[in-house]
Amino acid sequence: MKDFHEGDCGNHTGGRALLSKILRIGYFWPTMRIDVMSYSQRCDACQRHNNILHQPAEPLYPIVSSWQFMKWGMDIVGKLPKAPGGKVFMLAMTDYFSKWIEAEAFVQVREKEVISFIKRNILTRFRILAKITCDNGSQFIGKRITNFCEAWGIQMITSTPVHPQANGQAESSNKIIINNLKKKLGSKKGKWAEELSFILWADRITTKNATCQTPFSLVFGYEVVLPTKKIIPTARTSLQTIEANNEVLSQDIDTIDESRDIAKIRMAAYQQKIAKSYNKNIRIRRFQVGDFVLRKAF
Ligand SMILES: [Zn+2]
Repeated sequence: MKDFHEGDCGNHTGGRALLSKILRIGYFWPTMRIDVMSYSQRCDACQRHNNILHQPAEPLYPIVSSWQFMKWGMDIVGKLPKAPGGKVFMLAMTDYFSKWIEAEAFVQVREKEVISFIKRNILTRFRILAKITCDNGSQFIGKRITNFCEAWGIQMITSTPVHPQANGQAESSNKIIINNLKKKLGSKKGKWAEELSFILWADRITTKNATCQTPFSLVFGYEVVLPTKKIIPTARTSLQTIEANNEVLSQDIDTIDESRDIAKIRMAAYQQKIAKSYNKNIRIRRFQVGDFVLRKAF
């Protein structure tokens, strides 16, 4: 096998081709198929120089959240261009239901910063949250944050590369939000930290594919009046009297539960669609204890 695979007449052909080569020359033994396969799989040079598989190794399991502000995805974005004060990181949390986003700029993101961010932007603003999904960066799995989560009854779901389905990273809609944010942050260069609140605001009033509604309307129950409407009035604002406006507003608030239910159904359909197209392209790769793996460090 060694000779045929990497010897003088071998050119590192893989499993099946190698098998037929050996058979054609006239060798045979009962376990040759398995032997040849595992031999070529273990060749160091082949592993190093073969194409890297970019197809996902696990199917996508969409994360469903039935109430707003109950389940959040947490991400650290950075390093970004240096903003005043040396801020290069952004810590962002996205609500799974409404896609409402909270973010702040930091010099560094340690456990201390994560805890105070959650207290300031989530706990004292929305509600006691139940779950946070994040990757297993050290600032998310340390002792301090574990104690904090326990005290507040927050379940921290960290993902590992082995269980990518448990995290929010595979959750595409939250990722899209973060990616859009990154694009906007990038175009602001060193001013991104100053502009962050406007960027967040722009995101909150943008209709999301997952829900077909804006995070703002899902949270507050009515559509926002934008500054553009002051410059070019729309029929909705120019023909509106205070009484009529109040009436519409109270109708909107009366039907907010219904709007949220509709958003929930839309989101489920959207997630199903995303998962279907994602799962079309997976190549399941699972490892057993004792398997040899070559880990590429980028
Ligand atoms: Zn080889």
